[in-house]
Amino acid sequence: MDCLFCKIAHKDIDSSIVSETENVMVFKDIDPKAPVHLLAIPKQHVESIMEAGKLPGGVLDELFEAIAAVAKDMDLERDGFRVVTNTGKGAGQSVDHLHFHILGKRTFSWPPG
Ligand code: 5GP
Ligand code: ZN
Repeated sequence: MDCLFCKIAHKDIDSSIVSETENVMVFKDIDPKAPVHLLAIPKQHVESIMEAGKLPGGVLDELFEAIAAVAKDMDLERDGFRVVTNTGKGAGQSVDHLHFHILGKRTFSWPPG
């Protein structure tokens, strides 16, 4: 399968890794939309949140724990930050491997565009 984020997870493609555990990775987005823009992924391929239930038990816990840990490490909690997973083309999903954007260090509007 030709999947960009699988290649990043396997380190076949370089990325700027912020944190990594056995099953998850957090790395910098190549085209940041905020002063802090990270992507958190399960290393195992699933297309989107619609398939998240296919991940082995505990992986989603690991993923959300990693998101909270980097938010803490990067001091995002005090001013607030946003975690987003675009699902489907209409919502802007361009890489079909489940990923959560972690955006911080700027003001965010609501509702999102
Ligand atoms: P989506 O559009 O699917 O919600 O998010 C995909 C994200 O992946 C985009 O924000 C895009 O900038 C990022 N991205 C695309 N290609 C690469 C890459 O090769 N390396 C990294 N680190 N991020 C990428
Ligand atoms: Zn993949």
